[in-house]
Amino acid sequence: MSPSWRARLMPSGINYRANIYGLKKLGVTHVISVSAVGSLREDMRPLDVVLPSQFFDRTDGRRSTFFGGGIAAHISFADPVCATVSEVLAKACEAVQVNCHRGGIYVCMEGPAFSTKAESNTYRAWGMDVIGMTNLQEAKLAREAEICYATMAMVTDYDCWHPDHDAVTVNQIIDYLNRNAENAQKIIRWAVRRMPKERTCKCGSALEHAIITDRKKIPPRAKKKLWLLVGKYLK
Ligand SMILES: [Zn+2]
Repeated sequence: MSPSWRARLMPSGINYRANIYGLKKLGVTHVISVSAVGSLREDMRPLDVVLPSQFFDRTDGRRSTFFGGGIAAHISFADPVCATVSEVLAKACEAVQVNCHRGGIYVCMEGPAFSTKAESNTYRAWGMDVIGMTNLQEAKLAREAEICYATMAMVTDYDCWHPDHDAVTVNQIIDYLNRNAENAQKIIRWAVRRMPKERTCKCGSALEHAIITDRKKIPPRAKKKLWLLVGKYLK
């Protein structure tokens, strides 16, 4: 295995742009992201689902925009999650009887090592709810690609702030991961059938007022490269 391939297996090495661009190219309009998280709150227990409404960025230098190269765009990201998709997921959790928390803050850390206790306790003091390594870039890029996006954060364990943290065995974590995967499948099966076909949210027009570069000054190369995303605004 070459070093660069190994790097690609790390959360920081995932090509988030390629993944979201590929989905956009396929015509995908909605993304439900499923990921394992650590809990920063006593009442968000292993096997619970959290539907974060906010993200907090603790990553370092990851590429998280499609723009640049002569075309600048500033999407609105104050509400980074599609409320419609999140609402359907909440209803799905209820229907298949999986304990669910609506809303919450997902802190996205760089990894791959987990937090120190000082970091974990600081995130708790800041009011963060769950911690993971992968969802923030996806959410930003999905917004730039005008795709509705919501995260289903499946709690695997308590982060290291919790007194029980050290007592958890690898087998227990794998058991929780497997049960979370089963729950996620049930939730998605229910949710996909009931996702509204009409999009009433603003995700589908996120770039409408975001492109600030003078249209006449956008280099043809940049236009061509990003045509899939911006073509409808540059015609
Ligand atoms: Zn939406």
